[in-house]
Order: sequence, then C-alpha cells, then structure tokens
Amino acid sequence: MDQNGLLRLGIFATILAVMALWEAVAPYRPREAVRRPVRWLTNFGLLLISAALTRFTVGAAMIATAIWAGQNGLGVFNLVGVPAFLAGLIAIVVLDCAVYWQHRLTHIVPLFWRFHRVHHCDVEFDVSTAVRFHPVEIIASAGYKSFFVLLIGADPWAVVVYESMLSGFALFNHGNVHFPAPFDRMLRVLVVTPDMHRVHHSSVMTETNSNYGNILSVWDRLFVSYIDHTKANDHDMQIGLDEFRDSKSQSLLGVLWLPFRLP
Ligand SMILES: [Zn+2]
Repeated sequence: MDQNGLLRLGIFATILAVMALWEAVAPYRPREAVRRPVRWLTNFGLLLISAALTRFTVGAAMIATAIWAGQNGLGVFNLVGVPAFLAGLIAIVVLDCAVYWQHRLTHIVPLFWRFHRVHHCDVEFDVSTAVRFHPVEIIASAGYKSFFVLLIGADPWAVVVYESMLSGFALFNHGNVHFPAPFDRMLRVLVVTPDMHRVHHSSVMTETNSNYGNILSVWDRLFVSYIDHTKANDHDMQIGLDEFRDSKSQSLLGVLWLPFRLP
C-alpha cells in the first residue's frame, strides 16, 4: 500500500475506534445487542467486499485523475494560478457540494435508489452504518467524484484530505452518540452532526429525503432539504425502511441482492 493509502487507512481506523468506544461508553439510543452481530457482519462485510473490489481498480481513480490533470494542465486550478492552500480549500468545498448532489440524486432516481436503499435499510444507526454501501454505489461514486476532480483540476493532496474528511465525517455523523443541544446547535452551523444526520435515517420518507449533507451543513440549508429534528422523539424514532425490515434484507447476501429485488 502506498503512503497515501496508509495515511487514509490510519485516519479511518482511528476515527472508527474512537466512535465505537464512544458508542460503547455513552450510547444515545439503547444498544441492540441481539441484532448487532448480524448488522455488523453485514455492514463491515460490505466494507471488505468494496475494499477488495476497488483496491486495484477505482480505489485510486481520484488520485490518478488529479495527477493526470496536473500533468496535462487540465481543470480550472491547472489553468488559473491560485495559491495552493486556497485551491485546496475550494476543491474540498466543491467536492462536498458535488457529493451532496450525488446523495440527493440517489434518493430521486429510482435506479440509484435501488442501490442506495442498502444503506437505508439498516434498522439501527451506529458507526457501522457509515460503511453500509452496496459495492456498485461505491464504484459509481468514485467515477462521479473523479469527474469533479478533473473539472476543478484538484491537487492530489487536496483529494487525499477530502477523502479522509469524507470517510471521517461519515463515521462521526453516523455515531450512536449525542451532544448536549447547545453544543450540537453550535457545531451544526458549520458541519453535519450525528443528531442532524440521524433524521436522514428515519423511516418517515419526508425525513429520509432530507439532510443529505456529508461534511458541511450549509448545502441542506441552501438547497432547502434541511430538517431540524424528527416529528417523533429523536431518541425513540424508528430507523430504517418499512418495506425492508425482514431478515432477508439484513444479511450480507441479502443486501448484495437487494438492488435487484422486485419491486
Ligand atoms: Zn441517503
């Protein structure tokens, strides 16, 4: 594994360990001891399958695109001289906005939703939910993000920082943890918090179709998809999708097949 890969893996493993420990010490919702082994096997199983599938393929697509764009003078920042730090910052903000729209489209376009519903049919919400994605969605996302890397002419290091932030924030905002309300309010001005993202995993569809943000919370406010809290009590709300609560929708093989099921 190269230096970038090791750095990203180190950051990911550290944040995963911190969140899992935090959930164990101070869980917000009661921990589902019975369902957890199946859920964690499914969620981390998906992570391992996606990691194996992307290892030698699209896993490096974004970095390779950034290097290639730099060598060939392609993309906005390779054509217009902007100080490196500012260019990196803008690249991160633009990529976060692009991924907000990617996420929103996976809820709107029926074909994309078939794959994205794997993420939403988790009946609980904890750090493992952050890695519950169908491998096809992971591969498609790498291609989508690479297009924006090329468009911006993002620096390879900005890509490494962005990707680390994206996976780090996913682990953070799927945590079964809770901040005191005033602190959560303060954080929410800038970034997506677990209390904000939990709304997105409500089984009430109007709430599922809200709070699409990953890192910055501004996109949901700007594009009018922000819901402050669920109609039900945030603590006791039902998580998941009503039509996919059976055991067939929860196993590793079951979720791999879920996009191809009728309806
Ligand atoms: Zn979603």
